[in-house]
Amino acid sequence: LADIAMFSQKGKYPERVAFYNHELEESLRRKITLNEALRYALDRNEFRAVYQPIVDGNGEIVSFEALLRWHFQGRDISPAEFIPLMEQSGRIVQIGNWIMEEACRILSEMLKLKSGISMCVNISIIQFYDKEFVDNVNNLIDRYAIPPHLLHLEVTESIIHSEQHTIYHKVSQLQKRGVKFSVDDFGTGYSSLSVIHNMNIDFIKIDRSFINNIENKGRTIVQAVKDISESLDFDVIAEGVETEKQAAILKQCGVHFMQGYYFSRPLEQGAALHILAAGQQLSPAH
Ligand code: C2E
Ligand code: MG
Ligand code: MG
Ligand code: MG
Repeated sequence: LADIAMFSQKGKYPERVAFYNHELEESLRRKITLNEALRYALDRNEFRAVYQPIVDGNGEIVSFEALLRWHFQGRDISPAEFIPLMEQSGRIVQIGNWIMEEACRILSEMLKLKSGISMCVNISIIQFYDKEFVDNVNNLIDRYAIPPHLLHLEVTESIIHSEQHTIYHKVSQLQKRGVKFSVDDFGTGYSSLSVIHNMNIDFIKIDRSFINNIENKGRTIVQAVKDISESLDFDVIAEGVETEKQAAILKQCGVHFMQGYYFSRPLEQGAALHILAAGQQLSPAH
């Protein structure tokens, strides 16, 4: 890197290039540090799951999404930063199994407080390449006596486009058991609605960028997705709902399932169980 920096001095835009190299070096160093720490993070109990409610049109909690948190050097590192690293190293398979078990265990507790509540778990495409993936999910369903239709696996659009027959096959094996599938961050990738239909996807989570923009162009997109959902038989969930206004427009568009800071931030497991036990509604939109 020092060589590159020196070489760049002779370049046309020395300052710019040197700045770029500095950033590159910093981010490389950080990646190396995090990667090293991630090797021990599970054994050191540095991971935990938090749970964000998903509500229906009345503000009633119908589901929770399990979200991974990594407590490292005194603070939580964002999954957006460390999940890609774990995908590259393959460590996502192990941690994916870990959070799936956590989520199933908490779901079985939740079901004692409220019947019919479901749990959403994010699945990386890498986990589908693990030959034990389907068995693991089935075993957890058995061990925690989860009604399979209350386990919702969130996949990204990349999975939809995967040519891999094996992935298709695994999805359909789990669907035969009753497990439901959602497409996460919908609208940010390259989904084909016909593939979503053929794959029998149950829910589409509209990416929060569209909700963020719903007072403008986002509304047209949200309305279009909602209209298509009626004929293609999937349900729509809005992600990242932050204001009462957004919730109200979503309702006008016919979108009733919502998730976002307006209703609740992700909660620690105790708080999630507590909120269910209290049976309270979360700021219903008018
Ligand atoms: P995601 O699955 O789309 O999860 C929603 C993200 O949006 C979460 O970020 C959540 O905290 C955040 N969020 C929720 N409501 C709002 C809102 O109103 N406004 C804003 N600005 N943000 C909101 P988080 O927890 O940082 O997770 C980021 C991403 O990391 C997730 O996006 C998911 O792709 C990935 N991830 C998290 N946990 C797991 C996991 O256990 N396994 C895998 N494979 N990926 C995970
Ligand atoms: Mg998700
Ligand atoms: Mg999402
Ligand atoms: Mg998202």
